[in-house]
Amino acid sequence: MALMILTEEKCFEIAIQIVSQHNKEDLLVTFQETLKKIFPTCQLTYHDVTNNVLTENSPDDTRLLEHCIVSKKTLFSEENNIFIFPIVSLGKINGLVSLKEKALSKYVYLLEQLIALFNNQQLLLDNNNHDALTGLMNRHSFEDRIANIINAFQRRDNENTPQYCFAILDIDFFKRVNDDFGHLYGDEVLILFANIMENTFRHDDMLFRYGGEEFAVLLRDIELNTAVTVLNRFKKMVAQYDFPQVNSITVSIGVTEISAGISRVDLISQADQALYFSKGNGRNQVNSYEELILLEKLTTQSATVDDIEIF
Ligand code: GH3
Ligand code: MG
Ligand code: MG
Repeated sequence: MALMILTEEKCFEIAIQIVSQHNKEDLLVTFQETLKKIFPTCQLTYHDVTNNVLTENSPDDTRLLEHCIVSKKTLFSEENNIFIFPIVSLGKINGLVSLKEKALSKYVYLLEQLIALFNNQQLLLDNNNHDALTGLMNRHSFEDRIANIINAFQRRDNENTPQYCFAILDIDFFKRVNDDFGHLYGDEVLILFANIMENTFRHDDMLFRYGGEEFAVLLRDIELNTAVTVLNRFKKMVAQYDFPQVNSITVSIGVTEISAGISRVDLISQADQALYFSKGNGRNQVNSYEELILLEKLTTQSATVDDIEIF
């Protein structure tokens, strides 16, 4: 097999490219490009575990890939000349990368070193971008993602920018949970609440713990009406869930559509106004800013920075 000549300088260059990635998607792309450069004749495949596409492979390879999913460890088969490693983040397996090439056994050590580098960088990014209690993305990631989406809308490359809706979710009377049952039970409610979010929303929706008992969702490729339906389903799931000790809790939600040209401040303010309407109107409900405006239950107002501090 043809292998790139790995001078010391080249090795440094590769390492620096990997450790200078600041988000997980770019890290994975860079890593795969690096492997492709080092092993130019290899067959490199990313298998999205969440979409179950393993059956496209030969039965032999499928068996090895499935083994890798279960063990969550790298796997090398000399017989099949295949090296597989799992992309594990926050304890969950997101995908597998397989590399097929003749006489691969000589390069297993090199591959393992590269994977260690990749995994370290991914861990750093996970710790930096995720909330330690729930594992959802944190406020730092929220700011990052929102800025990216708003910029895409401002560039008006609307054909390539899917429709997004933005929702803020605030647990009702959460202070009482802490007061009546203690912080540990409160924390457990937050973890279970985040689990329900993960089980309800789609894989490419972005879920955040914004702070305390406040969460946010960026729903991708969805019309406002459908987003309201999905959020109502979520609201119902929460109300029906049997939380240990605490029994039932409810959630109030405000949602708005991301329209072309909207600023970050106005976007947050709109969802926030809809949330506060839900709170004032009896809690345990979903309201959209657009419908409240239409029904004249809210009046249009451009947000000030002060408004945002409520959220
Ligand atoms: P509302 O229905 O109006 O939202 O009432 P609320 O009680 O949920 O709202 P409030 O903002 O008064 O209280 C939020 C509480 O959330 C207060 C705070 O102690 C609690 N909290 C914030 N972060 C955490 C956390 O990480 N763990 C636990 N257990 N509690 C938290
Ligand atoms: Mg609350
Ligand atoms: Mg709150």
